[in-house]
Amino acid sequence: MLLPLTDFEAKVDRSGGVNACHLWTASTNGYGYGRLGGAVAEPYGHRLAWVLAHGRPVPAGLQVDHLCHNADLTCPGGLLCTHRRCANGRHLEAVSPAVNARRAAERRRRRAGVFPLPLVWG
Ligand SMILES: [Zn+2]
Ligand SMILES: [Zn+2]
Repeated sequence: MLLPLTDFEAKVDRSGGVNACHLWTASTNGYGYGRLGGAVAEPYGHRLAWVLAHGRPVPAGLQVDHLCHNADLTCPGGLLCTHRRCANGRHLEAVSPAVNARRAAERRRRRAGVFPLPLVWG
């Protein structure tokens, strides 16, 4: 096991219900991603959440994308994004870096159509 499940659950707020974002409440790294201390195989909260939801390691080379962020065009992205702390397995998908980048670009384009002001960077 990567980390006792109870330790992980203690750090995640699932009070919003099954479809809400379940935000990581413990420390984050400088980019707003949930961060685990110590020597764990998956040091990021959202990656560990994917592992726990799927019962297997994140396939080599894949990134864990936040579907909730992609869908929420009101999120300005970057350091203001709270989705990065989301650890709801339903909101996470393991994708290749190319797919992740394509989705991010697509989101920026869609968001620019809705919010044509700056702060469009994630
Ligand atoms: Zn979410
Ligand atoms: Zn976001």
